[in-house]
Amino acid sequence: MTFSHYDFEYIDVHCHFFPSQIFKAIWEFFERRDDEDKISGWQITYKLATNELVNLLKEKNVKFYTSYNYAHKKNIADYINEWTYEFKKNHANALPFGSVWPDDNDRIEYITKIFDEYNFFGIKIQPLVQKFHLDDKRMYKIYDLIIDRGKWLAVHIGTAPYRNEYVGYKNFVNFLTRYPNMNIIVAHMGAFEYKKFINLLDQHENLYLDTAMIYIPNNIFPERETKRPKPETLLSYQDRILFGSDFPNIPYEYKNSTKGLLNFDLPRKFYENIFYHNAKRIFNLS
Ligand SMILES: [Zn+2]
Repeated sequence: MTFSHYDFEYIDVHCHFFPSQIFKAIWEFFERRDDEDKISGWQITYKLATNELVNLLKEKNVKFYTSYNYAHKKNIADYINEWTYEFKKNHANALPFGSVWPDDNDRIEYITKIFDEYNFFGIKIQPLVQKFHLDDKRMYKIYDLIIDRGKWLAVHIGTAPYRNEYVGYKNFVNFLTRYPNMNIIVAHMGAFEYKKFINLLDQHENLYLDTAMIYIPNNIFPERETKRPKPETLLSYQDRILFGSDFPNIPYEYKNSTKGLLNFDLPRKFYENIFYHNAKRIFNLS
């Protein structure tokens, strides 16, 4: 292996920051043991206070990081967004993303506010937990705002680590047909349907894939019928892949997020693109 983690700087496009009581509930959910549920029993490595989490990213050479979170019920998205706004005020290197709940009566108002007044970069949607379809007409006006303001939609729409009726390639394509030019980041490279999501990159120039939890040495998303994209594929799409980690909700050391990629021993330019330059370009960072 030619390079090590500290040979590069990073923009981590898949970090989560929640108000602390919500974080605590999420960590308890991940660590819960339930034999029905394949993701149960993860031991979260970094259950720390917000400032400690931010310092840890800095120590890992992360220059900018997103603040993904999401609402799981009515009337809390606005509160979470206000919390994120405060978080951004205290942490200049955060790239704030908002949350939305499709049944909130004031959703247009609070999304307009986070875009126009707070300058958030976009919104994060998590259909696996939020349990609504991406192509839900209650969301159309929100999507119109995203497009009109040149913002981003970050979405966990893949079937890993488990699936429900709201995720998967088919649901994503239903949505993409209506919004083919939207700026979108698909989490986890679309796992487990990697190949189908990679193929979409050719037709949708504003579509990006993040690497969160893929290429981890111990492979937290098991390779079932599908294999993770090969290094040659990564090289061909090196302008469309963004480094992400899912920090701090990870059951392993942060550096494992880059280790599997570095093990491929690809050219320095490739790593600079996916670790830093692509995100810098799409978010207009200086
Ligand atoms: Zn995540």
